[in-house]
Amino acid sequence: MKSINPYNNQLNKEYKELSGKQIESIIANVEHAQKKYKHSTYGERSEKMKSLAELLRKNKTQYARLMTLEMGKLLGESEAEIEKCAWVCDYYADNAEIFLADEVIKSDASRSYVHFQPLGIVLAVMPWNFPFWQVFRFAAPALMAGNGALLKHASNVPGCAMEIEKIIREAGFPDNLFRTLLIPGKMVGEVIENPLVKAATLTGSEKAGSSVAEKAGKNLKKTVMELGGSDPFIVLEDAEFESCCQTAVTARMINTGQSCIAAKRFIVVEDIANAFEDRVKELMQDRKAGNPANSDTQLAPLAKPEFVEDIDRQVKESIEMGATLLLGGKRMKGKGNFYEPTVLTNVTPDMPVFKEETFGPVLSVIRVQNEKEAIEMANQSQYGLGGCVWTSSVERGEKIARTVESGAMFVNGMTKSDPRLPFGGIKNSGYGRELSHYGIKEFVNIKTIWIA
Ligand code: NAP
Repeated sequence: MKSINPYNNQLNKEYKELSGKQIESIIANVEHAQKKYKHSTYGERSEKMKSLAELLRKNKTQYARLMTLEMGKLLGESEAEIEKCAWVCDYYADNAEIFLADEVIKSDASRSYVHFQPLGIVLAVMPWNFPFWQVFRFAAPALMAGNGALLKHASNVPGCAMEIEKIIREAGFPDNLFRTLLIPGKMVGEVIENPLVKAATLTGSEKAGSSVAEKAGKNLKKTVMELGGSDPFIVLEDAEFESCCQTAVTARMINTGQSCIAAKRFIVVEDIANAFEDRVKELMQDRKAGNPANSDTQLAPLAKPEFVEDIDRQVKESIEMGATLLLGGKRMKGKGNFYEPTVLTNVTPDMPVFKEETFGPVLSVIRVQNEKEAIEMANQSQYGLGGCVWTSSVERGEKIARTVESGAMFVNGMTKSDPRLPFGGIKNSGYGRELSHYGIKEFVNIKTIWIA
């Protein structure tokens, strides 16, 4: 397994993949650790979770540098990601006991209630785009609920995967409660089939999600799926113009566009479309590309060379089908995986930049006549993860937010995740929820106790 720096495509380090026998032995060890750990109190778990948050904050720069080295995000974004991981640890340390307290429900019993118990070992299959955050937003609630965990991280971030296992151990969680499996995607099926593994969660593409869900379904194991997105960013004629344009560009360029909840389809009413395109073009251009570890770099590389090919194909095919190129539109010269910040307009639903998920710095404008058409366009997608709407009328914004088919809608703000709010999608964006009290209840046995 190779860790390669996306800035120059040089090898950082090679890691050895585990054999089938080693995987089995690790799973048995996690089972052993979880069997003891599930009897710990919330207070004991919470203490360890707080130490984990402290460790993350203390070594923030070190972990941030590792992420930047392996998948190329801007160092400032990496540091913010570590801060967010510490936040989610604190959040569940403070709230798990409240969320999982027995819930009394009146019935024909003298007393009946719901009691929440850990499921056992949960497998997490994770993507490279937020190498720490994706793992921590799963691990913090799973461990607080009393589960053990196996991490199968994306193959291009093995250093992050090993470091996360180490930090969790250093924070005081039992050895073997959380283990990383350095294995390729094709070996995940074997892990799911292992009878000691009780459930699986996957954050990644639809292809990987459907393969894991199929295997888990065959083995009757619970899954949560956090898959791709093509979030609409709806701009109405009464939007507060400047903050809308600034946020549009931030929402598109976050993580160099490689985020499931990055805004991807900018649905703009005709009245304001010319002005919107001029302003976002201005804000997108002249970004200084360079080493993402340097503080003055504004444009980071994409995580793998093939992602440059993918985004370039989506742009070129869309132009051939009638989209108008306003900015960029090609890969940048040099040894890293850089793609020019790109703006396309006159985008229509049959084009790849509309139909497919665009994982790169490409902002696509879809012009519409009015609010009704904007909603229709927003819903004309196989995805349903997040989205936002911009209007000076909160009432109008809320009405649209309730109508768009997605797991979240933001009014006059960009889509983001927050430990306090549930996160997840509908349609091909997946099912189940992470974060908030909903997230911690995904991997527990919701057990009814009835007393005569
Ligand atoms: P990916 O190729 O699907 O990989 C995700 C994970 O699945 C990796 O660990 C990968 O391992 C593994 N995998 C791939 N094929 C598999 C298979 N057939 N069976 C089992 N595991 C398999 O996705 P990615 O490129 O890393 O991440 C980008 C995708 O994730 C985008 O679609 C993005 O929208 C989505 N995402 C969704 C959310 C959300 O919360 N909804 C958040 C972030 C990202 P290998 O690396 O070894 O192939």
